[in-house]
Amino acid sequence: MYGLIRPDALLAFEDEGIKRALGRYVEVSTDKRLAKFLIAKAIPVSIGLSCAEEELWQEHDSKIKKFADAEKKLGSKKVDDLKFPAVSLLDLKLELARRILSACHFCERRCNADRTAGKRGFCNLDAGTYLSSEFLHLGEEACLVPSHTFFFIGCTFYCVFCQNWTISRHVEKGVAITGKQLAEIAKKRRIIEKGRNINLVGGEPTPNLHTIIDMLRCLDVNVPVVWNSNMYMSSETMKLLDGVVDVYLADFKYGNDACAERLSKVKNYWKIITRNHLLGREHAELLIRHLVLPNHVECCTRYVLEWIAENLGNDVRVNIMAQYRPEFEAYKIPEINRGVTGAEMQRALAIANENGLTNLD
Ligand code: SF4
Repeated sequence: MYGLIRPDALLAFEDEGIKRALGRYVEVSTDKRLAKFLIAKAIPVSIGLSCAEEELWQEHDSKIKKFADAEKKLGSKKVDDLKFPAVSLLDLKLELARRILSACHFCERRCNADRTAGKRGFCNLDAGTYLSSEFLHLGEEACLVPSHTFFFIGCTFYCVFCQNWTISRHVEKGVAITGKQLAEIAKKRRIIEKGRNINLVGGEPTPNLHTIIDMLRCLDVNVPVVWNSNMYMSSETMKLLDGVVDVYLADFKYGNDACAERLSKVKNYWKIITRNHLLGREHAELLIRHLVLPNHVECCTRYVLEWIAENLGNDVRVNIMAQYRPEFEAYKIPEINRGVTGAEMQRALAIANENGLTNLD
């Protein structure tokens, strides 16, 4: 398997910038430390799962407060040394996710669709999870490769330039899949093929939170969980991801609400995305992607990079991406109907440099 890895991926875990920003991830990936979901699975809860939702949240929040202590105690053990209780924090998270599904607010669109009754919200998904493909991805950031990537159908955004539009907009039909089946695939990719992580993407992982937590309940191998997302999760979803996700691979697209609404049909972007980056940094590690869009350096790139430097510090790992190409419906919008120029990329990198962002991928 390692014959397939890019040389920069082989060296990535020795990179000082990676160690600073993603040191915990490296330890989990190399099996020196346990993934968060395994710790959550080892934490018992002392409440019946049929209780009222408010009581379930109270129990959840009290266990999360003690999560850091549990991680200190258990984090360096091996999976086989862990004792899993009859009902764990991960079971509790799954129950809460299933309740959210009946008036869906996994993301901040808050459609309140009863997906358990077959209703669909903006993402157009019922209660099922549909897989487009899964494979060991060799084209992600070097520290992630080979990255066992699950591409889920459906998305909470409608980006007119979507590079994965066949997946996010349901043009391809996905295959219905359960958490148990996902866990079986994930185990094989980790143990036999040495994937460095589980990379959850789409489309978008958020509408599939219930299935993803179920997958982790069924999984008994140590592997870091990477949440590869537009970061438009609801505050409730952010709470459920705390103690589950090891790395947020966060796609920070826009520097203001007007561009977000026009190009991705999403409201209140800035407030929600900045909130979730701060929570992501508090709960896990961050690797931030910013795709430079043509004609959006001064209105978007500048504000995104300035905010990152000011609020997340200079050690955060940032990938400023040049690979934009007009896809999907981008041809309808003249300002983004071309690739990014060399001058625009140079300007983006200069803004990063002016703001002290040097830990670039
Ligand atoms: S995941 Fe988001 S877009 Fe999909 S139904 Fe739930 S709230 Fe709506």
